[in-house]
Amino acid sequence: MPHYEFFCKACNKTFEKVLTLAEHDAEKTACPCCGSHEVEQSWSAFSAITSKKS
Ligand SMILES: [Zn+2]
Repeated sequence: MPHYEFFCKACNKTFEKVLTLAEHDAEKTACPCCGSHEVEQSWSAFSAITSKKS
């Protein structure tokens, strides 16, 4: 299952969530720290993981 990294603009924290594509599309992701929906998805973690193959 893919996991996504998010950055909360309200409390300046990053967090990870495991979401199916359907879930990701269906609901807004809320910050687990402050509950804000002012979150930004970060793809850097995802590409860092996939590029770790050596
Ligand atoms: Zn937050």
